[in-house]
Amino acid sequence: MAIILGIESTAHTFGIGIVKNGKILSNVRDMYTTESGGIIPMDSAKHHKSVSEDVYIKSLEEAGVKENEVDAIAFSQGPGLAPCLLEGMKFAKALSKKLKKPIVPVNHCVAHLEITRITGAKEPVLLYTSGANTQVIAYASGKFRVFGETLDIGVGNFIDNFARYIEVGFPGGPKIEQLAKKGKHYVELPYSVKGMDISLSGILTNLKQKFESEKYKIEDLAYSLQEDVFAMLVETAERALAHTGKTELVLGGGVACNSRLQEMCKIMCKERGAKFFCPEKSLLVDNGAMIAFLGGIMFKKGLKISHSSLDKTDIKPRQRTDDIEVSWRK
Ligand code: AMP
Ligand code: MG
Repeated sequence: MAIILGIESTAHTFGIGIVKNGKILSNVRDMYTTESGGIIPMDSAKHHKSVSEDVYIKSLEEAGVKENEVDAIAFSQGPGLAPCLLEGMKFAKALSKKLKKPIVPVNHCVAHLEITRITGAKEPVLLYTSGANTQVIAYASGKFRVFGETLDIGVGNFIDNFARYIEVGFPGGPKIEQLAKKGKHYVELPYSVKGMDISLSGILTNLKQKFESEKYKIEDLAYSLQEDVFAMLVETAERALAHTGKTELVLGGGVACNSRLQEMCKIMCKERGAKFFCPEKSLLVDNGAMIAFLGGIMFKKGLKISHSSLDKTDIKPRQRTDDIEVSWRK
């Protein structure tokens, strides 16, 4: 009966979750936000440091677990912002030394993917839509294969960037979603699907130009942004389903909180007789429970590092999803 504590700190969120044999006991998070402007990595790292002890205590309390009952400490090793990753790793290593328990370095993107197992999906195509990452992924022969991805910026960062430009603050996703609900007129935007990949920076420039022209309501621009870009995501996800012959689609990452994106995925799945799955919100955004969840699976397979060899482990800010040997699934 292993109890795993998972630490998330890749960007804006410091979170600690506790998982016991695949069951989530707690999932506490504290997010760095700004009124205007985006993430300043050093500030976000300072935020993480200042809230870490509190989040830790709350998470243990919520789980009803004492610290000496924890069997291993999983943490997000990458990808992410280096100063933020460092805070998470420091916290993990200090805890590992104190409790004399091993650490399990976890890839953040793979954690977003593996937590979708909780929905009951077995062999899905994953549409992974987060801040920095946007990929259509399916597991095949030992790795998560990337079938398509953004060629420039992640869809969350794209939305946040536009939200920042129109001065509605960070994170922009929920704010754009609210504005979009009030939009009525579709404003034509570039549609940029290139094979299985998408590109968003041209659309961002176009949106900014349209905003500056003062010819359009921001509600209509927000609405059109969602309709246009989500259609691009759904198109590539559908093609991945067709290509792989898989019949399940799972949505993951923070942008998956968007109800219009969920609706569009549902419609596409219904039309082609596929099943659609989406984890609950607290597991879609960056969170410690998903790190603990994957940490638990890896720990069971012996993928851990002893508290006496912590020097062997470092952060990996640019680690890619398809670099990871998914040996625990073999
Ligand atoms: P992640 O990097 O997976 O934590 O996801 C964070 C991203 O999700 C940020 O870019 C947010 O703006 C975005 N996000 C959160 N909620 C929503 C929403 N309701 N609609 C669109 N994007 C969202
Ligand atoms: Mg994330």
